[in-house]
Amino acid sequence: MKKYRTPILLFAIFEVIAVSLWLSTGNLFFLLNFSYIGICLGVGGILMTAGWKHAREFVQFTVGSYILVFLGLVCRENMQMEGFWYYLLSGVVGAGVLHYLIAKIFGPLLFGRGWCGFACWTAMILDLLPYKQPAKPRKSFGWVRYVMFALSLAIVILLMCLGKADKNTMFYLFVAGNVLYYAVGIVLAVVLKDNRAFCKYICPITVFLKPMSYFSLLRIKCDEAKCIHCDNCLKVCPMEVEVNNNSRKRKNATECILCQQCKKACPVGALK
Ligand code: SF4
Ligand code: SF4
Ligand code: SF4
Repeated sequence: MKKYRTPILLFAIFEVIAVSLWLSTGNLFFLLNFSYIGICLGVGGILMTAGWKHAREFVQFTVGSYILVFLGLVCRENMQMEGFWYYLLSGVVGAGVLHYLIAKIFGPLLFGRGWCGFACWTAMILDLLPYKQPAKPRKSFGWVRYVMFALSLAIVILLMCLGKADKNTMFYLFVAGNVLYYAVGIVLAVVLKDNRAFCKYICPITVFLKPMSYFSLLRIKCDEAKCIHCDNCLKVCPMEVEVNNNSRKRKNATECILCQQCKKACPVGALK
């Protein structure tokens, strides 16, 4: 049972969130929503620990498509960054704000960028492309994420000033934003031969994710005494993390999406 500790713990955390929000708000949605996500994470984590090679994709599709299709398109909640700003500036702590607080702002202190590896609906599609490991050296235009971050806030403030920021407009912004993200993400992946190029250079959510995940409790640790410097882990890492260095300051440390590819590739079990 010990090896299943992390997925069981994750399930338990989400269940505590689900029950707490349900009891404090009286809204059954919170119980069902966070229980569902917790079950998907727990089951996926157990399947991954048991060695099923598609476990990560299972979680990506069960959680990612639930948020995109059910919460976003059916319930018409803007679950993107603009939705977060809109609800936050309107003083409404609903699904959009809670989603950001848990998955992308405070949650990463506990589970790093697990969101990026296991639940993001943008990456769920980008990961289907054939460029699993970057073919070219990393580019230096990661600053674009800050422009995107500022733009997402500016759009919402502008709409609010114009009196156009209602739920309907935010829904159409959500649809347009996702179409744009998928298009840019796919083009970048093909041009740079790197499925995760969008995550590395464009995604504004990383402005929250990167600093918080630096302190993450859950991280890939390297037993440097065991390491034989074969570099297998570096070759398979989609995010170019210097994972055979155990320091939190290792190169691209805050890019780790906890996908576990490096662990599978290590011949001596130095990565835990
Ligand atoms: S960096 Fe952005 S697009 Fe990439 S997985 Fe994370 S949240 Fe999704
Ligand atoms: S391969 Fe390892 S270091 Fe690279 S992103 Fe995945 S879990 Fe993190
Ligand atoms: S795969 Fe394992 S042994 Fe090889 S460099 Fe990475 S940590 Fe070291």
